Order: sequence, then structure tokens, then C-alpha cells
Amino acid sequence: MWNLKALAAFDARGHLNTAFANGEVTEVEKDYLMGLYQQYQANLGRPSAAMDGAGQRPELYNLVHDAYGLVQDNRRLKKLRADLKLLADYCPYCGFAPISDLDHHLQRGRYKLLSIFALNLVPCCHPCNSGKRRVPSDNPAEHQLHTYLESVAQFDFLRAAAALHPETGALGVSYTIEHCEGMSAELHHRLVNHLAEFDLHTKYAKQVNIHLSEQLFALTMAFEGGAYVLRNYLNGTAEAHKGNFGVNDWRTALFRGLAECDAFCNGGFKRALGKKIVNVEAVPQQAAVA
Ligand SMILES: [Zn+2]
Repeated sequence: MWNLKALAAFDARGHLNTAFANGEVTEVEKDYLMGLYQQYQANLGRPSAAMDGAGQRPELYNLVHDAYGLVQDNRRLKKLRADLKLLADYCPYCGFAPISDLDHHLQRGRYKLLSIFALNLVPCCHPCNSGKRRVPSDNPAEHQLHTYLESVAQFDFLRAAAALHPETGALGVSYTIEHCEGMSAELHHRLVNHLAEFDLHTKYAKQVNIHLSEQLFALTMAFEGGAYVLRNYLNGTAEAHKGNFGVNDWRTALFRGLAECDAFCNGGFKRALGKKIVNVEAVPQQAAVA
């Protein structure tokens, strides 16, 4: 999750030509849109007044906004939609749900001229797409991370702290963002904001529950060798997930967190998973912004 490789070679001018095949948009206006696209890319897709593209004839905004209708199945720009949806198996925002939608990174309602720009279209799941805010926050520390243009792969930041409830034995897992060395305060805050904006504390509760219930047999087998073997198994699984899904994937963090939970490794997993209660608490995380 977090990052996707952008479409390798896409023809933004060609998309404009296809969308406005009947001359509704002039060549000069297409030049202007191409310039706006370049500016978007140079600014890593951050929201700004410049991205409004002010000063054009009023009709242009609605023409480009409405052209997104062509990026639907069976319409003129259907290939763009199909190509974008092939970029990911799972939603890059949550990391587990299948792809169903295209999200406008900079919201289409506000930034109309970016409605069919390939770099502004991110394949994602419907809950994440429909759950995100309708206009970007005015606070740069709450700007959504750009899936294609802002790589966070150099940081190992996603943590899952696991604990067993002292009375019920139920497992609680809390996801947080570590402020890594070399990470700006703003990026840290944006990552913290990502968990909140896409409601990942709640969504991960369900996923952790499903995922671990499937692991009960494997954990029980590993535990026959004792806590040490179980911990090795959990760490090994975390490494495998890291290789498959990335260092900041929710599964990688989960298994690392479980390996660090003594109560879980000492046999508490049986009671926790036997009850099938996984309570992921949404702990609001404060981040100091410089
Ligand atoms: Zn999602």
C-alpha cells in the first residue's frame, strides 16, 4: 500500500484529443491544460490555488469535468480506466480491499481541469474513495499523500502495538506511525492523517480479525515448539509479508507487533483467537508539526 508505480507511458494530449474529438476544446486550451499537468507533476500533486487553473472561459471547466464520464466502461476513454485499474491488485489507500473505483487525488469537484489527467486518477476501493474528504484541507500537514509522486518506501514507519486484555484475554491492536529519522514533521503528520482520513483504525479491526482467524492452526502448530518458535514464526511471516506487500503493509506491521507481544507468544493467542475478538482501538495520534 501507500505507493503505486504510475502508468508507464501515457499520452495526456491523446486523452484530451480523444475526449474532445469534435473541437469542443481548442488546441490553445489543450496547450494550457498540458502546462497545468506539468505544473501538477512538478508540485507532486499538492493542492494549491494554481491547480484551479483560473482565468479560462467558464465553459472549459465543465467540459473537462464532464469528460470524466468518458473514462467509464464502454466509453471513449475506457482504455485509460482499464490501464489504471491494472496498476494495483489492492487499494493503495487501505492495502486490502479490491480495486473498484478511480479516485481523483485532487478532487474533481474542486479541480475540474484535472478530471481526466492520468496522474490524478488513482485506482482504489469504493469505501476509501467515498470516505475521503470532498475538498483538501487548508492545512498542508493534512494533505493526502500522492500515491504515484511521493514515495515513502525509504521509511519503515507503520507500527502495530499488540496487547491482550488482562481479564478477557482479547487481543487489541493499535496502528500508529513512527516518526522515523530523516522524516519531516509534516510527512509524519500526513501519514498519521492518512490513517484517520481513510478510517483505517476501524477497517483494520475487521481485517486483523479475519486474517488471524485463518492463522490459528499455524500458530498452534508453531507453539508446540514453545514461545520461542512461535515468535520466530511470527517474525518470519512478517518478513514474508514485507517481501510480498512492503515494509509498511498492515500485515507486516501486525506480525511484527504480535512477535513483540509476550502474552500473545506465551500462549495467550489461543484464548484471544479462540474468542475471535480483535479490538483495534482508534488511538488518536498527536504529531507535532514544525
Ligand atoms: Zn481502500
